[in-house]
Amino acid sequence: MITDLKNKSIYAPLGDGGGKVFLVGAGPGDPQLLTVKAAKTLALADVIVTDRLVGKAIIDEYANASAIVIPVGKQGGSNASTPQFEINELLVKLSHQYKTIVRLKGGDTSLFSNILDELEALNNAGISYEIIPGITAASGASAYTGVPLTARGHATGVRILTYYTHTAISDEAWKQFASFEDTLVFYMSGKSLHEVTGKLLDAGADATIPFIVVEQATTPNQYVYQSTLQDFFNNGFDKTFISPAIVIMGKVAGLYEQFKWIRNNNSREHYFKPLEDYPELIQLLNDFQKEANVSRA
Ligand code: SAH
Repeated sequence: MITDLKNKSIYAPLGDGGGKVFLVGAGPGDPQLLTVKAAKTLALADVIVTDRLVGKAIIDEYANASAIVIPVGKQGGSNASTPQFEINELLVKLSHQYKTIVRLKGGDTSLFSNILDELEALNNAGISYEIIPGITAASGASAYTGVPLTARGHATGVRILTYYTHTAISDEAWKQFASFEDTLVFYMSGKSLHEVTGKLLDAGADATIPFIVVEQATTPNQYVYQSTLQDFFNNGFDKTFISPAIVIMGKVAGLYEQFKWIRNNNSREHYFKPLEDYPELIQLLNDFQKEANVSRA
């Protein structure tokens, strides 16, 4: 077994002091929405490589005080974004220096999380890993708004989608979605919502279909905006949606008014701090990256 791994990688093989990487879902925001396994693993971690969409409160509550915390922000267009290949490289490098490395991701590990890139890098380097799922933003937003995604009589299923460019979803698919037999949940689509509503209306959707946009779901700053396809398409929203925001679209969204149990936080302040707010951690990350570059040369 160890021989196999040796052949796979230029890095130190397992059993030769190599660490293990735990890819962990941190849930959507509320620090109580972690699995027990995630919390226990965080407490054991020597190093935590964490996403921007993991609140500081989670690290403060669960991580060992001596753990090294490395934020690898991903924020559209920001200088603070860390390229994926650097994250991959960092995980490999850390696993040669530490025993327990946690790669902490917002929500669940399997949805819009780039986990495949990281799994490939770990596999190629012969590093062992475990995956611990988390509560995805759709589930968090659903629970914290009282909107069941597949409520009987309202939806037969749910589609987890994202829309970032006009080629992302085919015209045929829009036609299917426009029937709204399924609830549509859009991740990372706050900025493209006008286009999304236009596509659905063009594909024949009922103009009165309701939707909610849930900003910063499950955090103390949660804010829910309600509209309908036609109304939003005509009038839009007079502000920009605060990131992260998720869209729940379809008849189930009409249940919000009746079953909501949390008041909107009208301050609309940012809950998740950008990487720029942690200069000391950027320095640490740079040092690791420099070292990684040197050892590759
Ligand atoms: N793996 C994550 C998704 C990462 S992609 C998960 O399973 O939830 C990032 C997108 O997730 C954001 O653009 C937003 O659409 C959604 N998201 C993550 N956390 C959120 C939150 N607390 N509130 C609303 N949307 C959230």
